Amino acid sequence: MTSNRDYKIGDIINVDTPFVHVLNLDQKNQYCDYCFSKCFELKKCNECKQMYYCGKTCQRKDWKKHKLECRIFRENFPIIQKDLDRFLLRLYLYIENNPDSLCERRKFHDDNPDSSRCFTDLMTHRPQIEMDAIRTNVFQSLFARFESLNQIQLNRDKLFECFCRLCINSFTITNCELNEIGSGLYLAESQMDHSCIPNAAPVFNGHRVVIRAIKTIKSGQPITINYVDMKQSTNIRQKKLVKQYYFTCKCNQCESNDSIDYERLGHLITKMDDAIDTNNWIEAYEMGIKTMPMFEKIYGDCHPDLTVQMIRMLKLHLQLIPDNNGQIDAEISKEIQQVKQAIERTNLYDDELYKIFVSIINDIQ
Ligand SMILES: [Zn+2]
Ligand SMILES: [Zn+2]
Ligand SMILES: [Zn+2]
Repeated sequence: MTSNRDYKIGDIINVDTPFVHVLNLDQKNQYCDYCFSKCFELKKCNECKQMYYCGKTCQRKDWKKHKLECRIFRENFPIIQKDLDRFLLRLYLYIENNPDSLCERRKFHDDNPDSSRCFTDLMTHRPQIEMDAIRTNVFQSLFARFESLNQIQLNRDKLFECFCRLCINSFTITNCELNEIGSGLYLAESQMDHSCIPNAAPVFNGHRVVIRAIKTIKSGQPITINYVDMKQSTNIRQKKLVKQYYFTCKCNQCESNDSIDYERLGHLITKMDDAIDTNNWIEAYEMGIKTMPMFEKIYGDCHPDLTVQMIRMLKLHLQLIPDNNGQIDAEISKEIQQVKQAIERTNLYDDELYKIFVSIINDIQ
């Protein structure tokens, strides 16, 4: 996918809703199953009692897809207790029952009809997946579970085709703090190639994906995102890309001998998380401080992962300074400005991370 114009850091390249999406089972009853907003009073689907919505509007919007699985959930929910099963079942039933959906097109650049994609345009990598023992086993056992659901007529070949497209094209949907909450298939966005030094990044606002420029992008340049976690060594990243997407990355980061000690970084992050879990703010902050030069080396000036780490550090820093009767010293106010700028570049004003930031700031005033 190449850019059709120049973008500067923080520019929104595209906003889109998923073709099909599912909330992870471990997030049920915390987020609305349709819009993925966090909500404390969710209403269950009366029929299957397995779907939770923030209101009638979301329930109605989801019904076109949910009505196809509702009866299956009602009678067989114990069989479909895997996130991938629910995602694939939902996709399969939707396209089987709505053949027109196969022609539903989504544009990447609003002003460029050539940037549009429909479901059948998505790559399958079918020959590679057929040769992949792990994935074919996953599919075999999934198919066996689906066959035991006697309410649906299955076309094995079509189901496998859907499975392939999900393996290659689905996005992990995260909440504002980048914790995994679900999966989605975004037709136009799946055209973006991978780079270990990407110039764009997706952030999720509920179930909507927002693609933002995290580097300056010139017209005609490819728009890239990272498919795998950039905090892993070149060797691990490359292995994952081959295993999951069947290509060898040849980006500058992979070709260069970078000096980042990824193992130490992983260690520090684990220690920081453990310290936060046990309310040991001093330890958490000390570990975090050591991660920052490596975060900056990996992510450069701007990336959602960096933003989240910066906000975590700000929160810890504020917890550690003594209460100065509401007086904020120069160092802290500089840090607040930097975090604010980072959020503005990677997130949206109305999203949850901004609200978290505002509540942190309000606490000290
Ligand atoms: Zn909702
Ligand atoms: Zn239902
Ligand atoms: Zn690479």
